[in-house]
Amino acid sequence: MKMIIGGIKVDSRSKETVDVICPSDGKFLDVVPVATEEDVKEAIETAKKGQKLWSKVSLYERERILKRYIELVDENKEGIAEILSLEQGRPYQQNLSDMYSQVNNILPTYIDAYKHFHGKTTQPGAYSFNKNDFQVVVREPVGVVAAIIAYNSPVTILYRKVIPALITGNAIVVKPATDAPLAVIRCMELLVEAGVTPEAINLVTGSGSKVGKWISENPHVNTISFTGSTEVGIDIIQKSSVNLTRCHLELGGNDAFIILEDADIDLAVKSAYSGRIPVSGQICASPKRFIVDKKIVEEFTDKLIAAISKVTIGQPMDENVELCGLINEKAAIQALEQVEYTVKQGAKIALGGERHKAVLLPTVLTDVTKDMDIAQSMEVFAPVFPIIVVENEEEAVEIANNTHYGLSGSVFSKDMRRAMHIANQLETGQVVINSHGWYLNPDQPFGGYKKSGLGREGVEDTLSAFTQEKTITFKDYLY
Ligand code: NAP
Ligand code: MG
Repeated sequence: MKMIIGGIKVDSRSKETVDVICPSDGKFLDVVPVATEEDVKEAIETAKKGQKLWSKVSLYERERILKRYIELVDENKEGIAEILSLEQGRPYQQNLSDMYSQVNNILPTYIDAYKHFHGKTTQPGAYSFNKNDFQVVVREPVGVVAAIIAYNSPVTILYRKVIPALITGNAIVVKPATDAPLAVIRCMELLVEAGVTPEAINLVTGSGSKVGKWISENPHVNTISFTGSTEVGIDIIQKSSVNLTRCHLELGGNDAFIILEDADIDLAVKSAYSGRIPVSGQICASPKRFIVDKKIVEEFTDKLIAAISKVTIGQPMDENVELCGLINEKAAIQALEQVEYTVKQGAKIALGGERHKAVLLPTVLTDVTKDMDIAQSMEVFAPVFPIIVVENEEEAVEIANNTHYGLSGSVFSKDMRRAMHIANQLETGQVVINSHGWYLNPDQPFGGYKKSGLGREGVEDTLSAFTQEKTITFKDYLY
């Protein structure tokens, strides 16, 4: 596939390309261009011009075009889900069900909400000096929004950035992950087809270390919306700070999944499974540390092992498959190294601990203690379940908070007051009671405490982040 500059499909100036491979069977899927610095500059300058045109299109008309876009996504959802499944090695049914959710929930919500995202007036006469002055506060687009996207849920991440950016009158420059760029490119092509001002639609491909750097340093980018690792988020904010570019960062996590002794254990097992098995555990807010009261740890561990031993592993397009590989073989090697490292620190493998090419078999680690890296800030982006036994709820909270991450978390208890007491103490942007912490409703602020992020995503937060307020004063207007 090609990059998109000014709505037009283009190659890199250097003609250099990089292969996109299906991690599940190693088959070649396509190539994408490796952008040069000139290509990236051109994309950003085109976006700057396109933004002037697109922001002049009335909100009513922008709504009409973006709703036409939703229809196009709906018509093409099977094709998009298939490309995504092949490039990511994720079961097709999981991606298709995400596409239904995009079409029915996410996309229309941002569009509808902005129509009712009103400005405000201040109270004349509230101060001794403003008796006759009338003030209105209006919202304007920030200008050029750059969206830098992780590989794990590329289409979902794209939509949570690009739809609010466009409805608010911004132009976009998208940089997809090198391992999973194809579905994102297809979704961007459809924006042009739907009738968005072509110059407002730009996408560049190539390595994050170069293309991402050129985007971060460019003074014409007004806002960077990034989803990915903490390390890269910090790099982006450092590079963009010379221009005071606004940054919104959705970063990594090492979420606690706390099970108190009065919990419904079957429910906890079901939730551990449905939070950690999809996308082969490559989810920012999937449960990554299982902190379990000593009185029930044996029952939980036995039931968890019984449940995840039955996971069906296969190819992305197979029916009823639940787990494929990780994004590439290197990621699986790295995840296994993290498991082996934890074993060296004293943990035991109760299930799994084996790799077949890009597939890491679901792995349960027992005897994990609070001093181990995995119990603190070592994020494992794979279907790994480290179980940490605790004496009581105070110790559970202490371990849960002993990390530099703070994305999400969950607590299992039948006593809502106890669960609430724990939720209040967790240093995270979200806590879910009696389910895993991977919960994403467009109306909620989603994002992390500590090194899990900066800012929040969600209807209100993102629409605010992609607009800026301007106060206009009519001096001595009133009498
Ligand atoms: P990543 O390595 O940080 O990459 C994310 C994106 O940034 C990719 O497009 C990457 O390009 C680009 N990039 C890499 N280095 C860059 C640099 N120096 N400057 C600018 N851009 C750069 O993350 P990932 O491995 O794709 O995703 C996994 C991580 O994302 C995990 O830590 C996960 O928890 C986190 N995540 C967080 C959320 C959330 O909402 N909080 C959601 C999903 C994932 P290349 O692909 O070319 O390297
Ligand atoms: Mg990475």
